[in-house]
Amino acid sequence: MATIKGEVNKEGIVLRVVKTKESDAMVTALSEEGLFSFYARGVNKLTSKNGPACQALCRSLFSLSQGKGGAYTLSESKLLKNYMPLESDLTKLSALSFLQEVSAKLIQQDEGALDYPYLLKALELMDSFDPLTLCCLYFAKLLIHGGIGLDVDECVLCQKKEGIVGISYEEGGFVCKDHVHEVEAKIVSPRKLKILRYLFRAPLESFDHIAFEKDECKEILLDLGEYLNQLTGANLKSLTILAKI
Ligand SMILES: [Zn+2]
Repeated sequence: MATIKGEVNKEGIVLRVVKTKESDAMVTALSEEGLFSFYARGVNKLTSKNGPACQALCRSLFSLSQGKGGAYTLSESKLLKNYMPLESDLTKLSALSFLQEVSAKLIQQDEGALDYPYLLKALELMDSFDPLTLCCLYFAKLLIHGGIGLDVDECVLCQKKEGIVGISYEEGGFVCKDHVHEVEAKIVSPRKLKILRYLFRAPLESFDHIAFEKDECKEILLDLGEYLNQLTGANLKSLTILAKI
């Protein structure tokens, strides 16, 4: 795709497509520089040449022209990869819907650049690694980047590292045996504590190192979804589907 004068080329993963009038849409995508949005004319028409690149979870190259107010309008596009293939099994489809929804609802302008490599990694690994473990890892990173990660290193009340027996979503992290009854906390199994610690601490390079059981992932995703909902009011519909698989 050639660069036309006055236009910018951006590569990004589409997070949201909101239909506006007739067959037009506002598209929001995430790039390594952060979030960006543009107006896309006619993309909901079946015959649109820009249609294929403007679907949720497509990584595409966009050629954008900038109006006087600074708003972008799509001129040309090229689909690089569609991460939401139609022939996926139910678990993978649910996981992909979750990645899309949580990204669209949680990522703020100033965090986008931090989140991009993790989204790309999770999407790239979808075919070769456990989809639900990837969802857990990605969710934990988004929460950390959003400033609402759980403290999994110590008791949130006394900062002791020993005797951790539970978790308090109200207080935002682990609690020790001396404090678990003082706040709204749940006693959880040592294994679940270990998984949570791993999820919040795993670096990008080890996203495909350890896979957890389906039921363990589902429980954690639902817990974190509830935690997010309590804090921000965001309601992740894709978790309702995930809970049933
Ligand atoms: Zn404590």
